[in-house]
Amino acid sequence: MTMLQRYVNKGREVLNRIITSVQHKGIILMYHRIAEMDVDPWYLCVSPENFAAQLDVLRKHARPMSLQKLAAAVREGNVPPRTVAVTFDDGYANNLYTAKPLLERYDVPATVFVTTGYLGSEKEYWWDELDQALLRPGTLPPRLSLTVGDNSRNWDLSAASSYTEDEYRNDCARAPKSPRLSFYYSVWEWLRPFPDASRRKMLDAIVSWTGRDSHLRPTHRSLLREEVVTLAQGGLVEVGPHTVSHAMLSHHTEDIQRQEIEESKQCIERLLGTSITSFSYPFGRYNETTVSLVKQAGFTAACTVENSTIQQGSDPFQLPRFGVFDMNGRVFERQLLQWLRT
Ligand SMILES: [Zn+2]
Repeated sequence: MTMLQRYVNKGREVLNRIITSVQHKGIILMYHRIAEMDVDPWYLCVSPENFAAQLDVLRKHARPMSLQKLAAAVREGNVPPRTVAVTFDDGYANNLYTAKPLLERYDVPATVFVTTGYLGSEKEYWWDELDQALLRPGTLPPRLSLTVGDNSRNWDLSAASSYTEDEYRNDCARAPKSPRLSFYYSVWEWLRPFPDASRRKMLDAIVSWTGRDSHLRPTHRSLLREEVVTLAQGGLVEVGPHTVSHAMLSHHTEDIQRQEIEESKQCIERLLGTSITSFSYPFGRYNETTVSLVKQAGFTAACTVENSTIQQGSDPFQLPRFGVFDMNGRVFERQLLQWLRT
């Protein structure tokens, strides 16, 4: 065998290994918003242009499949090669007006997980309301104190008190984060585990502390109830619940968890007149009690935010997902192939 043949054979071997590893695995993608946004502290927005390019890549390299079909394949231990399911969390209105037409154009099924307490709400999702209060250029008072029951927390803003136009633009451009953005993350982290009613009071206190107005931005609004019905029309998009209040389930009592899971399921079932079987854990946080409650409520699949591939034997109630950022088609193609090989 010549040296050249040996290289060719070696190359074939590597290629076969890659092809084999790409087969027999599936992945679930997690999106939130298809929109152009200035400041996007959680990297949740994918532009419509990039989303279209990503769907084109999925059509070229993968086998798009609904989450329900993928979950059934997981249960049967027979995940078809290169399977990809698309999901959206939270329930932003742009899922209907921007994402759905593109999903239809590329014939890619998707599941949208909706936080039912926000349907038609005059309030933005709490993390967006916090971003509106804190991430606007201008000066804030030097100290913030929040108290809920026995819990209290004080922030001395120091450098975060002022927030210049330049710092704001840098935060939008994802340059090293400003003291104000770090302050936002810190307040967000502290608010996250509280029950919704306590968090609501603290958000009101924060908005009043800023001395600024708070309004529902059209770019940040959640779906209306009738829009959920329109979203599900045609059968390409499945709708599932994401709790009532976007609760961090693992931090709550069994009773609160049950209420968040069951009420959100019943709400969508009433709207759509059909039984709902897919669920998504907010913040990807859950415990054994959560999984058992999700099973008891009659779901057949539940999604986490653990970044990994679906393998034969994966648990349909702990399905991992890869979060997709605002990547153009070329970058997404590389990323997708790498995920499928992982
Ligand atoms: Zn969420």
